[in-house]
Amino acid sequence: MSARLRISRTHYPVHALGPGNRLVVWVQGCTLACKGCMSRDTWPAEGGTEVPVGDLVELWRSAVERGADGLTVSGGEPLQQPEGLAAFLTAADEVRRGADRELDFLVYTGYDEAELDRSHWDAVVHADVVVFGRFDVTEPTDLVWRGSANQRMTPRSDLGRRRYADLVDHAPERGPLQVEVRGGDPWIIGTPRVGALRDLDRSMRGLGLRVTDVTWRP
Ligand code: SF4
Repeated sequence: MSARLRISRTHYPVHALGPGNRLVVWVQGCTLACKGCMSRDTWPAEGGTEVPVGDLVELWRSAVERGADGLTVSGGEPLQQPEGLAAFLTAADEVRRGADRELDFLVYTGYDEAELDRSHWDAVVHADVVVFGRFDVTEPTDLVWRGSANQRMTPRSDLGRRRYADLVDHAPERGPLQVEVRGGDPWIIGTPRVGALRDLDRSMRGLGLRVTDVTWRP
């Protein structure tokens, strides 16, 4: 398989970006520049690592063998690499067809549906659910797995409609977040509510910790 995808990172298991335990692939590169984006490190198109799609498929195969419930693709902006994304999800779909349980694909994009062209729709043809829309810091939300109220979680398959039926309007008391440490640096996974990262900054300073380099500030 010759297709490639430029990624920021991957992680398994993630339980803060979709139902159950998931493999998450964060792609690298985004030109949408939402004010307040928590992942500015994923913006440069020349950053991250370009990897063969086949390597990502093997990660997905391994996650399935370890009990994954689904796959989430976030970013960065996945639809700014439509060919690589299409190749990855097509191959990942073949893997899930051989599984002994249902596995769903969730894709995040900062684009609205009206902005998508044919190559974008081809790229998400295997997605069971797509979250559409830019992050808007002026529209806070408690809706699960969304950063702002304008972002629409849209089921696109029978599995997506069944598995996410009660989740599209679900607003938990506390949003799911996950903290991992990689290379000695803490890393927050999920969609923190508006103001949560500012509060985290303050709390850490209150503990006497110096916060010098974070992904949500220039
Ligand atoms: S929130 Fe998503 S779409 Fe917006 S700038 Fe950040 S990575 Fe790009």
